[in-house]
Amino acid sequence: MKVYKWSACILLFLGMDIQGYPQILTTAEKTDFASTSTYDEVMTFFDELKKASPFIRLDSIAISAEGRRIPLAILGNPMPGSAEDMITDDRLVIYFQANIHAGEVEGKEAVQMLARDLLENPDHEIFKNIILLICPILNVDGNEKFSKENRTNQAGPVNGVGVRYNGQFLDLNRDAIKLETPEITGVVSEIFNKWDPAISVDCHTTNGSYHEEPVTFTWMMNPNGDRNLINFMRDKMMPAVQDHLYKNYKTENLFYGEFIDRMIPDSGWISYASEPRYLVNYIGVRNRLAILNENYVYADFETRVMGSYFLLRSILDYASEHKAQIISLINEADTKLVNRQNTFSESDSFAIRYEGRPTPERITIKAIEADTIPGVRGYWRYKQSDRHRTVTVPYIADYFPVESVKIPYAYLITVPDKEVIENLLNHGIHVEKLLESQSLDVSSFVIEDIKADQRLNQGHYTNTLTGHFIAETKVFQAGTYVVRTNQKLGNLAAYLLEPQSDDGLLLWNFFDKYLVPQWGPGYNPYPVYKLMNSQKFSTTVHLN
Ligand SMILES: [Zn+2]
Repeated sequence: MKVYKWSACILLFLGMDIQGYPQILTTAEKTDFASTSTYDEVMTFFDELKKASPFIRLDSIAISAEGRRIPLAILGNPMPGSAEDMITDDRLVIYFQANIHAGEVEGKEAVQMLARDLLENPDHEIFKNIILLICPILNVDGNEKFSKENRTNQAGPVNGVGVRYNGQFLDLNRDAIKLETPEITGVVSEIFNKWDPAISVDCHTTNGSYHEEPVTFTWMMNPNGDRNLINFMRDKMMPAVQDHLYKNYKTENLFYGEFIDRMIPDSGWISYASEPRYLVNYIGVRNRLAILNENYVYADFETRVMGSYFLLRSILDYASEHKAQIISLINEADTKLVNRQNTFSESDSFAIRYEGRPTPERITIKAIEADTIPGVRGYWRYKQSDRHRTVTVPYIADYFPVESVKIPYAYLITVPDKEVIENLLNHGIHVEKLLESQSLDVSSFVIEDIKADQRLNQGHYTNTLTGHFIAETKVFQAGTYVVRTNQKLGNLAAYLLEPQSDDGLLLWNFFDKYLVPQWGPGYNPYPVYKLMNSQKFSTTVHLN
């Protein structure tokens, strides 16, 4: 029976004794990988683990739009009393997140199996170095909309999967900047702000190109995150995890992407989008390590579950062994921002436009060539051919600025906007208020044009604007909000508040009502001003 086979196989890999632990099985294991877990089954599974082990605690991240509690499992030996204990704890915090898109379900099964198998051996080396947080089912509402009609191109589970969107019809993996869903707002406040994981992994299933490798993954790549962290992933951790996964767990794998031209494998391999609305890139802008796991949609369900399981396991193996190096890299990135000087260097600039370039190493892909078939409404569709061909091609996954602006010492927000301030505070950004009016030299953004997109995107006609900065002296009233950039989340603050940011609050319509005068031509100034140095800057009170 497959269940026994996998359990024995996993335990063998983990060097564990197969005897003596209660057999708590996932829905996938119980059904020979014909089904994936319902919400209740996931909750029951973790309740059973809790009964069986003192090294797991169950908490929650948020309540979904449809009223379900989103679970968080915390695994550690010894178990930390709370996230605050981590200040004096030198273990690495790692966060595994599954089911953000509830049709892409193998991560949900893999993290359950992994939690069980780790708890079976609490004296394992991994527990000496790591506290593991697991959200097995983030999109709880989407998960319950099971149908065999969802993701029909996916190779199982045959009994159906949930849907991509959450209870509000929003894509959780586009919400990391605007924070309009309880799920992502909860992840940011309960996981990132509280536990501050050094490494996070977000589990998905692919949709695109044809190849043989069942597991793909990539890293955070927005160039407004710390370059040393990106380079560490690109040059050290990700290649090492790739080798480890293949050598120790016999799992063929590939960095995530698609062929630039789906019909021509030699055209090159390109990663996904780089904006921080995607959770993995968002984590990068917070200067933490993040990994996107995308398992191959045409691999059968069991292979995808086990591939995801072994990838997560490989990440734990690597992180456990390189704990000191990872902690020191992250501390360096934080220190750089917190010590940001009043005179800004080149690295204190913010990229408003950037481009993808090839990584230093080409990558080898066991490609399967595609054929086209006529589709509906004139769209061509693709299908796999039987022509397999290994190609070595450039991997377009290294993003560099092509247009930058200077990061200021602080941003001054002159409108008392509840949604803007709440958004900043939800991200964990420190916000202050001027106690008294004062005259300050600032850089102001003069809007020349605003274009709203023609098509709704996640409920928004997103804005793009053009304009220029001017220097001026302006009186700022008491109560003006102040966001300094010499804080750990200083780059994220710039992302949210720079007027020309490609994924900021202005783009997502947070400032719409302030930009256009009721009568007459032209535009109001953007109500966020840049204080380029700390001189004359006076008393403030902290909001958080
Ligand atoms: Zn996905």
